[in-house]
Parts: sequence; structure tokens; C-alpha cells
Amino acid sequence: MKKHYQILIIGAGTAGIMTAAQLKKRDPNLEIALVDPADLHYYQPAWTLVGAGAYDKQKTIRPMGSLIPKGVTWIKEEVVRFDADNQAIQTNKQGTITYDYLVVCPGLVNDYSLIEGLAEAVEKGVVCSNYIDPEYTWKQLQAFEGGTAIFTQPSTPIKCGGAPQKIMYLACDYFRKKGIDKKTKVYFPMPGSVIFGVKIIADTLLKVIERYQIDFMPLHNPIRIDAEAKIAYFKPTNAQDNHCFVTSDDQQTQVLAEGVVAMPFDFLHLAPPQTAPKFVQTSNLVNAAGWLDVDHHSL
Ligand SMILES: Cc1cc2nc3c(=O)[nH]c(=O)nc-3n(C[C@H](O)[C@H](O)[C@H](O)COP(=O)(O)OP(=O)(O)OC[C@H]3O[C@@H](n4cnc5c(N)ncnc54)[C@H](O)[C@@H]3O)c2cc1C
Repeated sequence: MKKHYQILIIGAGTAGIMTAAQLKKRDPNLEIALVDPADLHYYQPAWTLVGAGAYDKQKTIRPMGSLIPKGVTWIKEEVVRFDADNQAIQTNKQGTITYDYLVVCPGLVNDYSLIEGLAEAVEKGVVCSNYIDPEYTWKQLQAFEGGTAIFTQPSTPIKCGGAPQKIMYLACDYFRKKGIDKKTKVYFPMPGSVIFGVKIIADTLLKVIERYQIDFMPLHNPIRIDAEAKIAYFKPTNAQDNHCFVTSDDQQTQVLAEGVVAMPFDFLHLAPPQTAPKFVQTSNLVNAAGWLDVDHHSL
């Protein structure tokens, strides 16, 4: 088994496969290895459509082996540790593999522990999420007969900043088609101050929010879910720029101590808090927030 590669890529998700393919296209002689223990590759962007009943999840899954670019070695192992000072990684089987250049793209991991009660709510099926099981989202949408529907996202960075909203708009459309939109109140509490970071897109999205009569609640950070009582709790976040602020008009919503808002729900879709994988967080390649420290302009 070879123990050294010119280029070692950790993770054969979208990022790893594309990087390997692009490098090979530019120079077919490069010696590249992709390290990933997974049997399957998931095309996650289509999970938004799966969650809305518009696409088959099976079509988003491919055998990993069928996607590894030609001429690239697939090391089907898990990376457990970096040793960047010695240009080496440790895997769970082969042990040490060295490299000239390292590309790190093992994706994000969900961390339920960052919202109190979330693990229990997921286990009990009280909350659904396209980030966890989009087929279950579709089941929950079909079972929903009207009431309060909440869509929310955490204060951590998440993959696909748009996904928490995309399922909300598709759900609103489904509620209309099903004829339950008039007896449904949709809320979008989220920690950020604006609906989207790019103004021209934010302006358009606010029109969509208005069209579906969604109650957009910026600066609301989900902190707790009571799975038994079906209540979600949100803490106000601080931000200077709140030009998109729209206040909730719901009678059931209760404001508790320190401005915490308690919102009962009949349907809840949530993007879970996300972090870098443990072996990245515990390495010496991260910034203070625990993310891989890279040059934003060149990566
Ligand atoms: C519901 C949803 C909707 C989305 N919609 C869009 C969209 O419309 N447009 C868009 O651009 N993006 C969208 N995204 C985001 C997009 O899917 C991700 O950004 C993308 O898949 C990330 O690719 P990645 O390669 O970084 O990570 P991943 O695809 O998660 O792959 C990471 C790989 O690393 C491997 N790995 C993990 N740990 C280790 C380890 N220790 N050792 C070796 N290998 C390891 C894993 O097995 C995995 O194969 C969406 C995501 C979701 C969940």
C-alpha cells in the first residue's frame, strides 16, 4: 500500500470529488488520493425537493466508487488525526500517510447538543429536518392539517444558507394546494438580522415572505425545544442592522424573562446546529471558533 501522495484529499463529498477531478483535468500525472470511509455519496441539494415530495431520495444516492475520478486512488478509511507539522495524517486502518499538499473537506457535522431538547425532539419525531431525514419532512408535511408551522435555523454556520427557507416556501405552496393555508400560520424565526446577506436577493425574498404571509422574525435564536409540550424557545440575538425586522402578531406567543419567546407549534422544521468534525476541531489547523483556518480568498 502506498504511503505517500502528492495530493491527499480528506472527504469525497462534493468538495473532495470536484477538487480531485479539477486537478486531474489540469494535470493527469498528479498523484492524488481521496480518503473517505463512506460507501455512499449523497447529492444533498436535492434533499430540499425530497422534503417537499417532489423528488425521490434514492436518486440522490450513488455508490461512492462510481464517482471517484479516473486515475485517483480511493483510500476507504477514516482520518482520525492530522500531523500537519510532519505533513501526515493518521487513518483508522493504514495509520500514517504523508503528502506534499493536503486538501481538507470532510464536511460539517450536526451537533444536537447546542439546542436543549433537540436530540429528544428528533428522536421522538417532533421536529423534522431536511438536513437529517428529508423523507420524514415530507411525511410530517403530509400529516399536518393546519395550525402553527415554524421553520427555523441555528446561530452556527450551516451548509446551504438557503435550505431552511427553501423548504418553507415549498411547504407554503403545498399548504395552498392542500387547501390548509387559511388555517395555517407560518413563522420564520431566525438568529440573523436580515433574511439573506445579499440585498437584491433579500429584497426579493421579502416579497415572497409577504406573498405567503409568513411572519418573519429576525434576531430570534432557537435555544430549546420542549418535545412533550411542543414548544420552541427563542432568545433575542443582538444586531445593529435590523432593517428587515417584522414583529410577530401571534396571540399564543409568550415573552418570558430576558426576552425569551415561547412559541407552541404543530409543525417544526429546523436546520440543526453544525460544527466542524471533532478531528478537525481538535487539530492545530483551526481558528478560535473551531473551524479550519483558511485564507478566505484563496482557500
Ligand atoms: C437540505 C440541503 C440542501 C442543500 N441545498 C443546496 C443548494 O441548493 N445549493 C448548494 O450549493 N448547496 C446546497 N446544499 C449544501 C451542499 O450539499 C453542501 O455544501 C455540500 O454537499 C458540501 O460538500 P462537502 O464535500 O463539503 O461535504 P459532504 O458532501 O458532507 O461530504 C463530506 C465527506 O467527508 C467524509 N468524511 C467525514 N469525516 C471524515 C473523516 N474523518 N475521514 C475521511 N472522510 C470523512 C464523509 O464521509 C463525506 O463523504 C444543501 C445541503 C442540504 C443538507
